[in-house]
Amino acid sequence: MIRGLFPTCTWPGCDRPAHRCQLDHVTEFNHRNPEAGGPTCYCNLNPKCLFHHQLKTFGDGWLDDQIVDAHGALWTEVTTPHGITVRTRALNTWLLPNLGLIPCGHGPPTAPGTTEPGDEPTRTLTRTEAKHAYRQRLRARNRTEDPPF
Ligand SMILES: [Zn+2]
Ligand SMILES: [Zn+2]
Repeated sequence: MIRGLFPTCTWPGCDRPAHRCQLDHVTEFNHRNPEAGGPTCYCNLNPKCLFHHQLKTFGDGWLDDQIVDAHGALWTEVTTPHGITVRTRALNTWLLPNLGLIPCGHGPPTAPGTTEPGDEPTRTLTRTEAKHAYRQRLRARNRTEDPPF
């Protein structure tokens, strides 16, 4: 279903076919507390090729987000380290036009997790977790200050 909505890698300008991509949790899944992290739900999943998945995971300064608008269309958004935000509407939304109107069975993430299952924190907040918490604050800020619709 996700690969039907996004026929390619969701990174702007990348046309790697979705079937050769990995499904990425936009807001990071929390392996220790799945309820608190990014949900495994169409609203929080999109395909990224290996290169762009790693760029998001390990690169500094990149931020991606995914938004369902009032009409149920899915948008992805990538902000570069220079602060340029590129929004893209999911190409194949017309295939499943009412998808975004199905209510999600989960609340907003409160504690986005680490990217790798083995990436367990040794302190209260690892560098990775701090980065994800920071990203989540940025997403929240972007959504409040700059509503796209
Ligand atoms: Zn890509
Ligand atoms: Zn959802």
